Amino acid sequence: MLRPLTSKSLILYNRNFREDDKLVKIFTEQAGKRMFFVKHAGKSKLAPVIQPLTAAELLMKINDDGLSYIEDYQAVESYGQIKGDLFVMAYASYVAALADTSIQDNHPDPALFAFLQKTLDLMNQGLDYEVLTNIFEIQILTRFGVSLNFHDCVFCHRTGLPFDFSFQYGGVLCPEHYHKDAHRSHLNPNIPFLLNQFQAVQFSELETISLKADIKRQIRDFIDQLYDEYVGIHLKSKKFIDSLGDWGSILQDKHEEEQHEKNSY
Ligand SMILES: [Zn+2]
Repeated sequence: MLRPLTSKSLILYNRNFREDDKLVKIFTEQAGKRMFFVKHAGKSKLAPVIQPLTAAELLMKINDDGLSYIEDYQAVESYGQIKGDLFVMAYASYVAALADTSIQDNHPDPALFAFLQKTLDLMNQGLDYEVLTNIFEIQILTRFGVSLNFHDCVFCHRTGLPFDFSFQYGGVLCPEHYHKDAHRSHLNPNIPFLLNQFQAVQFSELETISLKADIKRQIRDFIDQLYDEYVGIHLKSKKFIDSLGDWGSILQDKHEEEQHEKNSY
């Protein structure tokens, strides 16, 4: 049964199918993520709208038992600023892949859809794509069934202290309880403090968040540890970001110099 639906949508990826057709994975706000079939994709009027990381309002025929179809589209956002920068594009592809991995096909998740779209909008506006990615990674943990407390000590529940993270207890320890875990992470206390902020951050506050390169590297390393321990996925797009860190470090440092380091973390 095909049912008509108009919904905001985001193209996750496409792949060739037979001669000139394509299979397109699309995250729709109202019908979840699904696979669509586009016939003669090269010559189709749909060609511009089925590129990865393109948002649009799609008029669709949804098939709950197989491939769905796109009838028409409007209000296309192609994220030109993201696509014009290799680094931003790499991070945007990674957050989209993370969203894709975190939910099952055919199940609507309008909150995640809105969060992903907002993250891409802000990347496209030139906000710090590494920090946006970190916030996305921290907030999407709940979709993987992971709930971590960076807010209060797992033993005494006091807040606002120089915390360290304990993998043994899945939460933070205050200085009085550091000794409960001989293998605590020995983090810079700014890291759990920032991750606690990231869990609850409002997008309106993001324009004022600016972090030093050194702190960003520590956050990156720690979130990698969290993902290894609690999520255990290995996305190609994440490996690509890691490789950018290797050969792109000169470019990257230049990038960072150009950003104002205006806060005190
Ligand atoms: Zn404590």
